[in-house]
Amino acid sequence: MKVIDHINQAKKTLVSFEILPPLKGKGIKAIYDHLDPLMDFKPAFINVTYHRSETMFKKQADGSFSKIEVRKRPGTVGICAAIMQHYKVDPVPHLICGGFTREETEHALIDLAFLGIDNVLVLRGDAAKNEASFEPEPNGNRYAIDLLKQVVNLNHGIYLEEEVKDYGNAKFCIGVAGYPEKHFESPNREMDIQYLKAKVAAGAEYVVTQMFFDNQKYFEYVDKCREAGITIPIIPGLKPIYSKKQLSILPRIFHVDMPMALSEAITKAKTDEEVEEVGADWLLAQSRELKNAGVPVLHYYTLGKPKLIHKVVKELF
Ligand code: FAD
Repeated sequence: MKVIDHINQAKKTLVSFEILPPLKGKGIKAIYDHLDPLMDFKPAFINVTYHRSETMFKKQADGSFSKIEVRKRPGTVGICAAIMQHYKVDPVPHLICGGFTREETEHALIDLAFLGIDNVLVLRGDAAKNEASFEPEPNGNRYAIDLLKQVVNLNHGIYLEEEVKDYGNAKFCIGVAGYPEKHFESPNREMDIQYLKAKVAAGAEYVVTQMFFDNQKYFEYVDKCREAGITIPIIPGLKPIYSKKQLSILPRIFHVDMPMALSEAITKAKTDEEVEEVGADWLLAQSRELKNAGVPVLHYYTLGKPKLIHKVVKELF
């Protein structure tokens, strides 16, 4: 079932989760161990992130180095299929521009359609670690909107090389990313919202936001999007705090602010267990306020912390 149908049919706020594929070598048990407790909350859907390969240098016997491409977390499509089969819950694979030619993207979409997967979250992806800024593959998609248009085309039976008769393939429901604190490459928030509006005009059906720790930023963002004429659901993305290191890592990697009260509480905590308590309290307060405001879905980035998420969501649903 499509995410947008879940939202339209719901009478109250839904819950959804987002997971990372495990590191290469770990089996599907790692995913089931992570998700099993969270199934208590009957998530409407589960997102599975996509991680492109990284360039590394491997030392050869003669002392020289050779360049290799390593994918540490493969398996997004397989995990989605396993989730659907094992839990009968709708998976949402993330699909990125980076590292894919348009042809490879088409093949991935054909595989997803054969599996009966109804949803994709389309993203540009970040620059590869050895690049200063994002570069698409030769014949790859540059922006999320280009990838989105490719999915929309395929939904209409328009493939890269030919237009084929529509035999009733999956019609993907397409989600896109939004940034309450603006995407870090955008010159300003208004422009970022205009690009989001273009993605909506091209066929995006809902937005999932980057994490934020101050609900006011989400509420203001939704207001600005509505003023700009974006009417589709905007799902808040929520991440738990569980270690002191996140105080500097999250702003650096995700370009988000941490409110003063949260930063002080984390700084005062003596152990990571105490930080986790601070994080759980903050996440619960954020979730409660968002739920009371009637958001369509509370989307949790569970990222290795299912117990913390379970503790919080148990208080709400
Ligand atoms: P875009 O919409 O393409 O925007 C990228 C930048 O270009 C923005 O600054 C935008 O304002 C600007 N822009 C957009 N269109 C145009 C245009 N036509 N002309 C000029 N500028 C334009 N990354 C992963 O690698 N894997 C994941 O699984 C993943 N999951 C994510 C899930 C969520 C909910 C979010 C919020 C992010 C996720 N990311 C993931 C990170 C994402 O790939 C990065 O934030 C990336 O830098 C931008 O992706 P985007 O889809 O927002 O890009």
